[in-house]
Amino acid sequence: MYSYRHGFHAGNHADVLKHAMLIAILKHLTQKDAALTVVDTHAGAGLYRLDGDYAGTSGEAEDGVVKLFTALAPPGSAKPAIEDVAPLIQDYMELIAEFNPQGTLKIYPGSPFVVQKLLRTEARDKLKLFEMHPTDSKALAANIAQLNAGRQIAGARQDGFEGLKAFLPPPSRRGLVLIDPSYEIKSDYAKVATCIQDSLKRFPTGTYAVWYPVIPRPEAHDLPRRLKTLSNQAGKPWLHATLAIGQDEARNVPGEEARGQGLTASGMFIVNPPHTLKAALTQALPQLVKVLGRGRGQGHTLESGG
Ligand code: SAM
Repeated sequence: MYSYRHGFHAGNHADVLKHAMLIAILKHLTQKDAALTVVDTHAGAGLYRLDGDYAGTSGEAEDGVVKLFTALAPPGSAKPAIEDVAPLIQDYMELIAEFNPQGTLKIYPGSPFVVQKLLRTEARDKLKLFEMHPTDSKALAANIAQLNAGRQIAGARQDGFEGLKAFLPPPSRRGLVLIDPSYEIKSDYAKVATCIQDSLKRFPTGTYAVWYPVIPRPEAHDLPRRLKTLSNQAGKPWLHATLAIGQDEARNVPGEEARGQGLTASGMFIVNPPHTLKAALTQALPQLVKVLGRGRGQGHTLESGG
C-alpha cells in the first residue's frame, strides 16, 4: 500500500492545477473575518526538493511548474510569454516563488505549505493534516515543526477519511476540506464519494475540493459523476475542472507508445465553490493548456451545476 511517494510527482501538471485552484479558493475564503478551518486529508510530506532524488528521477515537474515558470517567468522578472497572465496563475506563481527566493526553482510546496501561506493568525485559522505514510508523515512533522506555528497546524499519522469526521463541522462553521488521495488502491474512489456524502451531512456549507486522476479506469471515470449526483442530491453548487497536457508524440519510443507518458490529465471537483472560481478558471485553463500542453489529447473542461 505504501508505494506511492508524492515526491516523484511534486510540481507536475496535476499539482499545478490542484494548488492553483487551492490558492484561489483560499484567497476567497479568507476575505471574511471569521476563522477558517482547513483539513487536508492526504497531506504528503509538505515540502519537496525539485533538484532531489525523487523529482529529479521522475522529471514530472519539468512538464509542470518548471515549464510554467520558463514560459511565464517568475513575478518581477522577464516579460511573460502570454499577455495578461490570468490572476489564478499569477497568484500560484507568486506563492511558489516565495519558496524560492534565489530565483531558481528548487523547493516545491505541497498542499500543507500552500495552505499555510494563506492562513491568518489574527483570525485564528487552523490547519489539520493527515498523512499515513510512515516516512512522509515523519517528514511532514519535521517540516511543520520548522514553522513554529504552535497550535495553528496539527498533523496526525491517521487515515484522513476517518480523521476528518472529528473536525466537521468546525466551530466557526467556515471550512475547506482538501481530499487528495493517491488512488493507489481502487477503494479510494468509493471512499472519496462516501466521504463527501458523509461530510455534507455533518457540514453542509463547507467547501470540498477533490483531486482525481483522469485515467482509463471505470472508477476514475465514475467519480466526478458520483460527486455531481451527491452534490445535486444535497442541493449544493459544484464546479468541475480538468486539465489534460496530452502526449508528446516526439517523445514516444517506437513500440513503447502504449506505455504512455505517465499521467496526462487530472481533475478537481469542488462542492460549494467560491462564486468567483468559475470566471477565474475560464481565463486560466486555456492559458495552462497553451503553456503545459504537449500535443495529442491536450485540453481542458470546465462545468458547473447546482
Ligand atoms: N495533498 C498533497 C499535496 O498536494 O501536496 C499530496 C498528497 S499525495 C497525492 C497522497 C498522500 O496520501 C500520500 O502521501 C499517501 O502516503 C497518503 N495517504 C494514502 N492513504 C492515506 C489515508 N488513508 N489517509 C491519509 N493519508 C493517506
